[in-house]
Amino acid sequence: MKILILGVNGFIGNALVRRILQDTPWEVYGMDLSCHKLEHSLDSPRFHYVEGDISINKEWIEYHIKKCDLVLPLVAIATPRAYVKDPLGVFTLDFEENLRVVRQCVKYGRRVIFPSTSEVYGMCQDEEFLEDESNYVLGPIHKQRWIYSCSKQLIDRVIWAYGQRGDLRFTLIRPFNWIGPKLDDVDAAKEGSSRVVTQFIINLYRREPIKLVDGGHQTRCFTWVEDGIDCLMKIIENPGGVADGQIFNIGSPDNLCSIRDLAVRLKDLFMRHPDHAEDGVYSEIVEEPHELYYGQGYQDILNRRPSIEKARRLLGWEPRTDLDSALKDTLDFFLEEMKDQD
Ligand code: UDP
Repeated sequence: MKILILGVNGFIGNALVRRILQDTPWEVYGMDLSCHKLEHSLDSPRFHYVEGDISINKEWIEYHIKKCDLVLPLVAIATPRAYVKDPLGVFTLDFEENLRVVRQCVKYGRRVIFPSTSEVYGMCQDEEFLEDESNYVLGPIHKQRWIYSCSKQLIDRVIWAYGQRGDLRFTLIRPFNWIGPKLDDVDAAKEGSSRVVTQFIINLYRREPIKLVDGGHQTRCFTWVEDGIDCLMKIIENPGGVADGQIFNIGSPDNLCSIRDLAVRLKDLFMRHPDHAEDGVYSEIVEEPHELYYGQGYQDILNRRPSIEKARRLLGWEPRTDLDSALKDTLDFFLEEMKDQD
C-alpha cells in the first residue's frame, strides 16, 4: 500500500509514519514545512519526504493523490490560542486547503482518513460524546474559539455528503487530547501557545507559575499517543471495509482529569523526577480568568469525554495506557529535550 501523509512532521504524523515503517511493508509519501520530528524515519527507503507547503506545492500533492491508495491530510492549526488570535488562518488552512485535497480524493477515487476533532462536540452536555448521536454545541460568533470546531464540522459534513453520494471512501477520526513526545514545539510553549500538557511541563521547567484558566475545573481525557496510533493503524488496515463511512472517537475515557488535577499530578511528577527532586523551588499553581489568558474570543469546554464503544465494537480497539504513565512519559520526553537545548 502507498500512503500519502500531508503534515507528516506533526504530532500525529510523525508517530504514525514511525509505526507504519516499523510494523508494515507500506510506503509513505510525506510533505511538511520541516522534518525536525522525523529523524527516526528519514533514512528509511520506504519513506519519501518532501519539504513543502500544501498551499503552494499543489501539483506535487495532486500527483501523489493519484499515485497513492490512501490519503491522510493531517495539516491543521489545532491549538486554542490560535483559534482566538488567528481565526482566518485557521479557516484557510483547516478548511479551505483541506477541502481542495478532499476534492482531489473524490476526483481520483482515493480513500481518505480525515482528522476531525473532539472539538466538534463543543459544549455538548452529554456525559460521553457519541459519534452519531451527540449534538454539536457552539457559542456565539464573537467567541472565535469556535471557528476551528465549525471549520472541522463543515468539512466533516462535506466528506459525509460525498460519501453518501458514493463518490468518496472515507473514515473520520476524532482524537481526544492525545499526549506524548513531540506534542508541541518547546518554543511555542515558551510563548504560551501550546496545548495544556506541554504548557504545564515547560512552565514547571522554567519555574513559571502554572496558570489554571478559570480555576481549572474543566475536564479532559488525556490519551497516550501510541494508543491512538494503535486505533489509527486498525482503521488504515480496514479489514472488510469495517471503517468505511464511519466516524470514530479515539480517546481514553478512563483518563478523565480536571485541569487542576492535571497541574497537581504534573507538579508532583516533576518534583519526584531525579533531575529535579533537589531543586527546592517549584512553580506555584495560580488561577487566571480566560479573558486575561486567551482574550475575549475564548470560551471553554467544561467536560469532554468520548464514548469509544464504536471503536471497541468495530475495530476491537482498547486504550491501554493510564493517565499517570502517559503523563510521566510525556514529561520525561520534554525534560530530556529541554536539557539538550540548554
Ligand atoms: N489551560 C489552562 N492553562 C494553560 C493552558 C490551558 O488552564 O496554561 C486549559 C484550557 O483553558 C482548557 C484546557 O486547559 O480548558 C485544555 O487546553 P488545551 O490547550 O490543551 O486544548 P483543548 O483541550 O481545550 O482543545
